[in-house]
Amino acid sequence: MSDELTLAIIKPDAFGAGHAGDIISHLEEEGFELRAARVAELSREQAEAFYAVHREKPFFSSLVQFMTSGPCLPMALERENAVSHLRDVIGATDPEEADPGTVRAEYAQSVERNAIHAADSPDNAERELAFFFPRTELV
Ligand code: ATP
Ligand code: MG
Repeated sequence: MSDELTLAIIKPDAFGAGHAGDIISHLEEEGFELRAARVAELSREQAEAFYAVHREKPFFSSLVQFMTSGPCLPMALERENAVSHLRDVIGATDPEEADPGTVRAEYAQSVERNAIHAADSPDNAERELAFFFPRTELV
């Protein structure tokens, strides 16, 4: 199967704690290649649009507040089966349920402050890549 692109974000908790380098190393050791990355500070409107699927959830306003609380690091990552493999590598949403050795098991603080986002389907990966990176920025 040919390589695929997916979208990850090192969230403000992990970025602010200085874990970006270690997390990128972890992803590279899993065979992901970095194709684009930038430090971003999401506006409330951007965070609400990015997580619009969760608009009705009780944690939505807190999630938006967290995602706008400081800089984060969106990344385009390439690998065979990138979307599904990245979901495996980041671990469960709640770090208490994340398998040992996953990014969230190592770096997440709570179900909300869980260190990293990953697109959950190829369609969402495409939408989320376009959200952060114009096609011309992907190398
Ligand atoms: P992400 O979309 O960030 O990769 P996910 O797909 O594992 O995470 P989702 O169900 O899409 O989980 O939730 C999006 C984000 O909302 C979570 O990563 C977390 O930051 C926050 N969140 C999810 N569930 C809860 C909850 N019960 N309480 C507080 N925050 C939550
Ligand atoms: Mg999700």
